[in-house]
Amino acid sequence: MASVGSVTRQIAALEISAKQNGATKPTRPLKTAGQTSVSKLLTKFAAPNPFPDPKLKPLAKPKPGNTTQSSTKQSSQKPAATQKPLTEAELDIGKYDGGFEIENEKRGEAVQGEAARELALDSSVSRTRPTREWHLTDFDIGRPLGKGKFGRVYMVRTKVEPNYILALKCLYKSEIVQARVEKQIRREIEIQQNLRHPNVLRLYGYFHDEKRIFLMLEFAGKGELYKQLTKYGSFSERRSAVYIDQMADALSYLHSKHVIHRDIKPENLLLGINGELKIGDFGWSVHAPSNRRTTLCGTLDYLPPEMVEGREHNEKVDYWALGVLTYEFIVGSPPFEEMSGYNATYKRIAKVDLRIPPKLLQYDPEKRLALSEVRKHPWVVRYRTKTPTPEAVA
Ligand code: AMP
Repeated sequence: MASVGSVTRQIAALEISAKQNGATKPTRPLKTAGQTSVSKLLTKFAAPNPFPDPKLKPLAKPKPGNTTQSSTKQSSQKPAATQKPLTEAELDIGKYDGGFEIENEKRGEAVQGEAARELALDSSVSRTRPTREWHLTDFDIGRPLGKGKFGRVYMVRTKVEPNYILALKCLYKSEIVQARVEKQIRREIEIQQNLRHPNVLRLYGYFHDEKRIFLMLEFAGKGELYKQLTKYGSFSERRSAVYIDQMADALSYLHSKHVIHRDIKPENLLLGINGELKIGDFGWSVHAPSNRRTTLCGTLDYLPPEMVEGREHNEKVDYWALGVLTYEFIVGSPPFEEMSGYNATYKRIAKVDLRIPPKLLQYDPEKRLALSEVRKHPWVVRYRTKTPTPEAVA
């Protein structure tokens, strides 16, 4: 496994062009480097190349007549026998339904004053990682990927070469202000933009207009993990162990960057094109040490005793959540779930009411199994393959 330092260095070489260089086009050495090594790097570090391996099936084969409205490039269809793997520029991103414009007519309004300043989010002027300037017109927009609380998400392709495939997520500023989460959104963006790990969804850049903020996210080709869990009820031991290994690796990375996630649950996990797990939501994350007490909202199911009891907490809250996930992947429901309601779940968490030998689900955070030990655990090691393949996690 590459060290965090080497991952960061190699990814830095692949950065979507930085403004400091004065470049208007990406400065990555794509044209000069051998295609194989570039593809390998893209696969390894989960840059948004959806065709890392020519042997893998494309996500969606371009159908004649099913191209984007705004796309200027058409993929030429060849007979299967002679068909080469598609490049990003040729990959079909699906048909755009005009949703961004239709919604923008009806939804949200411009925000004023302090809130407007707070939400003027633009990665081209980021202090730590400036990117080139981006606008909505820089993208060919494809199919809708989903709807979030503050707006829609679309599959897009950058018009500028090498025609990256991304997920573009829209957030309505006035709704963020209404929900009073301006600071939380800013923190989420700042944290996510600085993270580089194969199991952490990349945020490549962000920009805004009068009413909206747009996040340029790594495209998670296989969608939501939660949907898979709902579809199958639970996962095989092999699939669970592969995911837990990837989670432990990603969480170790986050903790080494002093980031505590605090909201690990299936709804916040996506799947990359190779079926690899991606932590995709940093809405509750904080920089450690965070001994702040929090107001809890949403499900209690993944929260450790120290958080449900409103005590101080540290990165070990994520160890607990990993224990809950392990249980849920194998059994199909989280261990402390109580249909009778919030209070019953609270009591079961506080008592660690569980009938299996707990390694991560320990009341005392200090007694929880270290993430490095999780990765060495015989159950995890048994199913580990060098690189996750669709077969390994299917
Ligand atoms: P969210 O606002 O993050 O909850 O996103 C709404 C929906 O869009 C999710 O439930 C996913 O189905 C989809 N989605 C969000 N981000 C991505 C992404 N990076 N890649 C693929 N689909 C995504």
